[in-house]
Amino acid sequence: MIKLSKPNIDHEDIERLIETVTSGNLVYGAKGRQFETKISNLLNVNRSISVSSGTAALHLACLALGIGPGDTVLVPAFSFPATANAVAMAGARICFVDVEYDTYCISERTVKESLASLKSEDRDQLKAIIPVHEFGYPAPVTAIQGLLSDLGVSVIEDAACALGASLGGKPVGTLGDVGCFSFHPRKTVTTGEGGVVISSREVILNRIERLKNHGISIDGQSVEFLEPGLNYRLPDINAALAIGQLDKLASWISQRRELAKIYKQRLAGIDEITPPRLTEGHSWQTFMVLLDEKVDQKQIVYDMRELGIEVNIGAYAIPNLSAYRNNLSENRFQNATKLHLHGLALPFCEQYDEDTVKKVVSGIKACLIKQL
Ligand SMILES: *Cc1c(COP(=O)(O)O)cnc(C)c1O
Repeated sequence: MIKLSKPNIDHEDIERLIETVTSGNLVYGAKGRQFETKISNLLNVNRSISVSSGTAALHLACLALGIGPGDTVLVPAFSFPATANAVAMAGARICFVDVEYDTYCISERTVKESLASLKSEDRDQLKAIIPVHEFGYPAPVTAIQGLLSDLGVSVIEDAACALGASLGGKPVGTLGDVGCFSFHPRKTVTTGEGGVVISSREVILNRIERLKNHGISIDGQSVEFLEPGLNYRLPDINAALAIGQLDKLASWISQRRELAKIYKQRLAGIDEITPPRLTEGHSWQTFMVLLDEKVDQKQIVYDMRELGIEVNIGAYAIPNLSAYRNNLSENRFQNATKLHLHGLALPFCEQYDEDTVKKVVSGIKACLIKQL
């Protein structure tokens, strides 16, 4: 089976894992701190906070910014549901924003459109926006921030799948008020499950540090529980896995960029397939192509798997999911809906080469012939 992607864990990572397990410290500790320092250096920030998942990172970002009942948050209509779930679990209302067909991300245009159609109470209660850097492509956070700065709206970047991506030379995640990353095995660097939160605002970081650890504040010998909190800590067992991977991220991204080029060349002659067009600042976590509307996406996923090639839909039109359907007025999120129904993520990671691409593309050709 050619898997959609494979975690890239070598024997040094495994040795670091064994060392951690035998040390007797399985919860957050030295390895977690080492992981955080590496992330801080990579992103050129003073401080990073490790957490148990990308979803935990997003949830904590909402809680630390005081987002809750009575607030409205703008969320892209096309993403993994966790982006919206974090807001819903914080108790705030969600207004979805459609994405662009060629970047899969929200833009100045779609945010403007959404602001114009907001009900006046949602506009008054608007507290934050969560741009998603979908599949590693940098959403235009700076332009969006410009649109919203007068309204006092916070920007939480969902950079869950975009570690290593950049906008105008700056790492994504460092552009807004809070940046959230995931280290799930489908991401380029993985801790198994895991996440990281960063922010330029020390007060927010202190609150996140507290909220992820039962609301504890530790000052020398004195321990106080200052507010109710959660346990969203990343265990050292998990942190240990990624410490070595982080050194290789830059070279993995350039290998992925090359693989994307090879895919584009080999897919060029197939009319029913549109590969991603924009590449500037991309970290290439996922390679999602668009199928022509007359192609049956579900059938392709099934037929490809029969051929031993794992492909999948890319992401979801969240407003169309059962959990959020009450938010939907019909057909308002046209691009998100199309991307959900016609997107196809192809096997993609730095361990794959031209030979993998050849097999995948000839599989796709065979499956298309069956359908058309
Ligand atoms: C992966 C992902 C998440 C969720 O991260 P987890 O670590 O799986 O909780 C959230 N948002 C986006 C855009 C993602 O790609």
